[in-house]
Amino acid sequence: MVSVTRIVIIGGGPGGYEAALVAAQLGAEVTVVDRDGLGGSAVLTDCVPSKTLIATAEVMTTFDSSYEELGITVAQDGSAEERHKVIGVDLGKVNRRVKRLAIAQSHDITQSVTRAGVTVLRGRGRLGAGGQAVDGSREVLVDGPDGTVQSLRADAVLIATGAHPRELPDAQPDGERILTWTQVYDLEELPRELIVVGSGVTGAEFAGAYQALGSEVTLVSSRDRVLPGEDPDAAEVLEDVFRRRGMNVMSRSRAQSAKRIGDRVEVILADGTVVEGTHCLMAVGSIPNTAEMGLEEAGVKLNDWGQVQVDRVSRTSAPGVYAAGDCTGVFMLASVAAMQGRIAMYHALGDAVQPLNLKTVASNVFTDPEIATVGYTAADVECGKMDAVEVKLPLRGNPRAKMQGIRDGFVKLFCRPGTGIVVGGVVVAPRASELIHSIALAVDANLTVEQVASAFTVYPSVSGSTAEAARQLHIRKRAEGES
Ligand SMILES: Cc1cc2nc3c(=O)[nH]c(=O)nc-3n(C[C@H](O)[C@H](O)[C@H](O)COP(=O)(O)OP(=O)(O)OC[C@H]3O[C@@H](n4cnc5c(N)ncnc54)[C@H](O)[C@@H]3O)c2cc1C
Repeated sequence: MVSVTRIVIIGGGPGGYEAALVAAQLGAEVTVVDRDGLGGSAVLTDCVPSKTLIATAEVMTTFDSSYEELGITVAQDGSAEERHKVIGVDLGKVNRRVKRLAIAQSHDITQSVTRAGVTVLRGRGRLGAGGQAVDGSREVLVDGPDGTVQSLRADAVLIATGAHPRELPDAQPDGERILTWTQVYDLEELPRELIVVGSGVTGAEFAGAYQALGSEVTLVSSRDRVLPGEDPDAAEVLEDVFRRRGMNVMSRSRAQSAKRIGDRVEVILADGTVVEGTHCLMAVGSIPNTAEMGLEEAGVKLNDWGQVQVDRVSRTSAPGVYAAGDCTGVFMLASVAAMQGRIAMYHALGDAVQPLNLKTVASNVFTDPEIATVGYTAADVECGKMDAVEVKLPLRGNPRAKMQGIRDGFVKLFCRPGTGIVVGGVVVAPRASELIHSIALAVDANLTVEQVASAFTVYPSVSGSTAEAARQLHIRKRAEGES
């Protein structure tokens, strides 16, 4: 009799469901256990909802920032106040669309996973106390919504349980005025004065989106600038744009507490300053969903933040237990979670496996302009981790950008000084998420600046700046070689 490998996956987000599809294709008997619905937070509360909200915001900003320059007239006299009577947002309708799309996406994923032969169980999964049996298998327990407990046996287990929003002890969300990013989609009306606490990617995306939708936004940042983890030139462009559009960006301001007073909210900063608004959105990081799952008892090592420690093929410290996605804290992106999950299954099922390579991950901040990044960064060059030279071309010199009225943004390329191999890049532009792909290909395939420069780009196009940056790096390399 041919023995079939039994795989149990706890968590049905991108880390879990993509792994399930691969494992089923490789002939395993696969069960996915999820407590909220397939697609996970990525589909139900995080990526899909936020990017759907941002789609509406994007239309508003594109119109607002360029209609006059492009010669478009609006009814009434075109003053900002009059314009908002002509163009406004029905947040209730936007949010209903957000939720509808999220549920439909979750449904589509459930269908494709079950069509692939995967069993989907609703409930909370955890490792059984028995440890590894002599045949190498482990027990997974599933606490069902009806109070029943089901026992499953697995030859390999994948933990892909994601993370949830971190809360400050003195700023407890009430779901109405003090909100986490998972709660904003219940709002029926646009917050008049929104305080966003936290200027990382999530805080910046929501601050930009609500400002575009028409809220007065205050962004409270504990750091010197917004997006402290991103390319400093890119963050500077975004902060300038935010301020120019009227956002109150408060740097070096640490929020300590938030309290609701009637239909208003007060955020109190560490220096005693009180910031007032009608709503407050807390975007102060996330906590991995790894508690009370029997992980440490099974020998799975967690770090001080509770994240599961994994190697580059997603193995944990416990034999037969793999982990993927936000619960590992490796690089908190849906694409990385999916890749970690697939790698785990290739490894567990004895297929060819390429260890995870974070230097080819393309990521994007969905603000206006967007900030897309791949490969080695300015920080890597500065600290000596990578020897590279860079060229930065502002978009205001790009013909297509001029035609489209795009004022802010740039393309930046990094290459090795001797060989000219492209090792990284940053694009700050509308739809940078689409424009980064050519640089991601170059980084992935170790292309040289000469190869990137020799490929045709459309005239006129914003991507022409990528080829131009490569040409400039080539000239610089030649000049340095001759001197
Ligand atoms: C606001 C926001 C926007 C984002 N936008 C993007 C984006 O545009 N692009 C991008 O790449 N990334 C984005 N991210 C990050 C992305 O959402 C995560 O990296 C991704 O969701 C991680 O996937 P995952 O599979 O690890 O976990 P999740 O998507 O969190 O899924 C985990 C699932 O496991 C379930 N679960 C937890 N514990 C248990 C248990 N014990 N038993 C059973 N089920 C359990 C959860 O309910 C959930 O359904 C965003 C994040 C946030 C906060």
